[in-house]
Amino acid sequence: MKRIAVYPGSFDPVTYGHVDLIRRATALFDHLIVAVTTNPGKLMSFSFPVEERLAMLRESLRGERRVTVEAFHGLLVKYLKTRKARIIIRGLRAISDFEYEFQMTLMNRHLASQVETVFLMPDERYTYLSSTLVKEIARLGGRVTAFVPPPVLKRLLKNS
Ligand code: ADP
Repeated sequence: MKRIAVYPGSFDPVTYGHVDLIRRATALFDHLIVAVTTNPGKLMSFSFPVEERLAMLRESLRGERRVTVEAFHGLLVKYLKTRKARIIIRGLRAISDFEYEFQMTLMNRHLASQVETVFLMPDERYTYLSSTLVKEIARLGGRVTAFVPPPVLKRLLKNS
């Protein structure tokens, strides 16, 4: 049986923190699906449309065998079932991530007890990095070269 893991998120846009986690996950599992959410949360609105978020991920992960990138909407545990996957990958940067992730993990476990969530920590260079912060710095004219892959940089510069 192939071990398939799903890494869900907004990836709005993908950063080197996400890429770091993707590399760690591919070392542990046979196949990784990076699943880009199209459901905006109540207070959330995306900066990049889903097609752009997918394109930036695909261009940034070119050459990563065993990784596929796709969009999903609806309940994550239902989506996992359609992909015959039982592992969710999430990242933990700081304590501040913990409460939300804790709540989501236990809720997903309630909804689908066979699903396990695995948390990975990025390289310390990326522990303070978020897509929101990167967009804000880029918008204000700061350098984000160290934080995002070239396909993202190109689009951020175009938009700023
Ligand atoms: P979401 O809206 O689902 O939190 P994100 O794209 O912001 O989507 O994050 C997806 C996952 O990646 C989350 O588990 C988040 O903690 C993790 N993540 C985001 N940025 C980083 C980073 N710099 N290092 C490690 N993990 C990260």
